[in-house]
Amino acid sequence: MTKKIDRNESSIEKNSIRPHSIPIYQTSVYDYPDLESLDDFYEGRIPGAYLYSRNGLPNSTELGKKVAEYEKTDSGVVCSSGMGALLVAILSGLGKDDHVVASNDLYGGTLVLLKDELSRFGIRTTFADSADPENVRKSIERDTKLILVETISNPTMKICDIGKIAEICHESNAVLLVDNTFATPFVAKPAILGADIVMHSGTKYLGGHDDLTIGILCGKSKIMSRAAQFCTRSGVIAGPFDCWLATRSLSTWQVRVKQSSENAIKLANYLESRSGKVSKVYYPGLPSHPQHDLSKRVFNWGIYGGMLSFDLTGGLDSAGRFVKSLRTVTLTPSLGGVHTTISHPGKTSHRNLNEDQKRESGITDAMIRVSVGIETYDSVEAEFKTALDAA
Ligand code: PLP
Repeated sequence: MTKKIDRNESSIEKNSIRPHSIPIYQTSVYDYPDLESLDDFYEGRIPGAYLYSRNGLPNSTELGKKVAEYEKTDSGVVCSSGMGALLVAILSGLGKDDHVVASNDLYGGTLVLLKDELSRFGIRTTFADSADPENVRKSIERDTKLILVETISNPTMKICDIGKIAEICHESNAVLLVDNTFATPFVAKPAILGADIVMHSGTKYLGGHDDLTIGILCGKSKIMSRAAQFCTRSGVIAGPFDCWLATRSLSTWQVRVKQSSENAIKLANYLESRSGKVSKVYYPGLPSHPQHDLSKRVFNWGIYGGMLSFDLTGGLDSAGRFVKSLRTVTLTPSLGGVHTTISHPGKTSHRNLNEDQKRESGITDAMIRVSVGIETYDSVEAEFKTALDAA
């Protein structure tokens, strides 16, 4: 028989002693003492009460609240992954025959979600080069309900003029959804520039240690309460432990992003200096970046984030030699962790695109994407020097 615990008997609560860190509420459901308290719950008379994990969890409430504060929005909804968050953002607001305008160089997983999955349910997408906001304007149709862009695109590091795109979007009564995964709110705050929904793959910088999978949406209360409802109905929720880990990581988010940005600008400059081995470096902090001036308007404090990409002068073979020559920097198809890692977009995130689509997205066989970590910079440069010499 299950023992009924009288919470008032807990000496911790009796003496108003609280845990310093929010505990992991590893429970899928809550016990209610009587039928009246169920009525109280459903009619909103017990603030902060929970019933069943799919409807909400203390750890996910805490996480959503914190990220929403960082993003300067009203509230946040936590989902099972970045892709889960995108799905919730789109399906909670759009239906059959609705139209999306999306950047043509979004994360590969987002491209295939729109192209191959949501199209089957009658949600149409036009892809545009959003580096020029006029391309977005030209792609808007009568039924356009959503514009989807990334603050910094993956992996070509193009920047969106979020303020201008927000203006264009709102003239058509559409919703602007910005994937801020690469930038994080320490580099840019899209909601301040006019975005309606800001999305994160929390698997990346928010988590920061390559040990959790989570997604977050932030925005105005009305849009978020519909997103939360859809999240509950579809079950795209995150469990308490991943939410707890992500909340814990938020205490060091700013320091990690700052340190990796400082390393990234140094590495970008070093790679540019190796012109015999590197044909192009993609990093918004470099004056050679075509949108360097725009980045000063879109980004917060002159920090440009920890992500960069570069093209080796050789082809796929050269990329293969480069990867094999690395010793401590690993080939790890994710980003935003404390250790420097590399990835090959053509073989991973953009693998499902055909050659034309890759060309359109600017993905080459010799492209290496780097998630710059927080190590001592000199050790990172030494590692890249050895691998470039071998490439
Ligand atoms: N958005 C961006 C920019 C990403 O890089 C990724 C994953 O790499 C996602 C969304 C999807 O996030 P997740 O892997 O957490 O589903």
